[in-house]
Amino acid sequence: MAVIEQQTALAEYRMLIGGAWEAAAAERTFLSRDPSNGEPWARIPDAGADDVRRAIEAARTAFEGPWRSITASDRGRLLFDLAALIEEHVDELAAVETRDNGKLLKEAHAQASALPRWYRFFGGLADKLDGRVPKFDFPSVLNYITREPVGVVAALAPWNSPLVLATCKLAPALATGNTVVLKPSEVASASVLEFAALFERAGFPPGVVNVVTGMGPECGSALVEDPGIDHVTFTGGPATARAIARSAAENLTPTSFELGGKSANVVFDDADLDAAVVGVVAGVFAAAGQTCIAGSRALVHRDLLDEFLGRLIERTAAIRLGLPTDPRTQVGPIATPEHLEHVRALVQSARDEGATVVAGGEATQLPQAPGGVYFQPTVLTGVTTSMRIAQEEVFGPVLAVMAFADEDEAVAIANSTRYSLASGIWTRDVKRAHRVAGRLRAGTVWINTYRNMSPLAPHGGAGLSGHGRENGIEAVDEFLAPKSVWVEMSDEARDPFVGRMK
Ligand code: NAD
Repeated sequence: MAVIEQQTALAEYRMLIGGAWEAAAAERTFLSRDPSNGEPWARIPDAGADDVRRAIEAARTAFEGPWRSITASDRGRLLFDLAALIEEHVDELAAVETRDNGKLLKEAHAQASALPRWYRFFGGLADKLDGRVPKFDFPSVLNYITREPVGVVAALAPWNSPLVLATCKLAPALATGNTVVLKPSEVASASVLEFAALFERAGFPPGVVNVVTGMGPECGSALVEDPGIDHVTFTGGPATARAIARSAAENLTPTSFELGGKSANVVFDDADLDAAVVGVVAGVFAAAGQTCIAGSRALVHRDLLDEFLGRLIERTAAIRLGLPTDPRTQVGPIATPEHLEHVRALVQSARDEGATVVAGGEATQLPQAPGGVYFQPTVLTGVTTSMRIAQEEVFGPVLAVMAFADEDEAVAIANSTRYSLASGIWTRDVKRAHRVAGRLRAGTVWINTYRNMSPLAPHGGAGLSGHGRENGIEAVDEFLAPKSVWVEMSDEARDPFVGRMK
């Protein structure tokens, strides 16, 4: 197991390398803090380049050895067995994740409960990803195309939903026959370490899944710049993605990036206003806004603006801030004091640039847990497209409201950032809904709903939101390399100096 002792206040974790639970070679560790009260609660290995190298070697050995010889349907069966084990451990996984990153326990529980769907979806695909046989104009030539696993995958996850976001990588990478070295965020590594123990129990050969923990600039960069890595799949922020792209460039290692967003919820004048207010609130304040798909801009038709704002401010003022373990809590803590400063600075920049705070706007504390950091659900009006608050990801409970006059202006404002992850449309007009969905630059569009996710539907964006797709059958393309095999079936002599090109 990952936890080796819990006799004092601190849980002690180890990393998973080649089937063994290990401390960092240099015996360095770092502390994980409970965001709800600021208290350290777990000690995590702080891996260096040597540890990372061992994990990559273990993944390579497993890839070339036992994992390669397992049939596709057996890979699928292992993923199904894993899914069944997860179902037995949902409560523990959710509790650890909440302690580690401050996510509401009820949301962490819902996410942990959903993980088996991912492993069953991709486990079911494992033996259905066959190739094809093109029909050539050379009757004597047989060509068939197989899809091979790329090899050893480096997977890097952020802190906001460690298990779901690691799963979006692990499930398709393993179903397609790759091995993985996973690095969770240094802010929240513990739930991933607990989870990794389930792979062993499900019967995955040692080295198929390895987990290294440590700091991004040291452990993370050692992982992505290693020539033994065949693909980097990363979820995190654009600044880190740039650093990873530079590291991966040395070996021309392919990457897929799931980055942030500045998603727009577009509310037309024929919208069901009650539903739209709930959707906007859910879009930006759920998870204290610490989600990549946060609908952090509300674009509202100007004829509706006053009424919409009135209802929105009332609903926002009623939001319950509290401890993430309290079932009545609706908005929990910000993950770290450093991140709180980022949220505060962006709200201040909006004020400085002329926006008006009409709800919230301040950091706050809970009397029962003064060490935790919280930020009031915040609504800003008078926002224009040139302001930082309209262009930069807050990753916190902060909504920028902007007005539009017509459909063209709504689309222009929605598309005015370099992000393009997600967006929402609120209208009763079915023609408008689909017309606008087609015009929005976003990998996901929700119509009269927001924040739906499934292993069945692709997720991803372009520009500052990254490249590549997770989820959906499309996700397997990141982890498979097509191989074209040519077979001469005749005994005919051919001109050696002319290639056959038809
Ligand atoms: P981050 O970019 O700071 O860190 C993500 C991971 O990268 C961590 O494991 C970190 O240790 C590692 N890392 C940091 N520096 C590195 C380096 N130089 N080389 C290699 N690895 C390095 O992100 P975060 O703060 O943990 O998470 C918040 C960000 O994640 C937000 O921007 C959010 O929008 C994004 N996110 C995107 C999605 C999505 O699916 N599109 C989902 C959730 C979060």
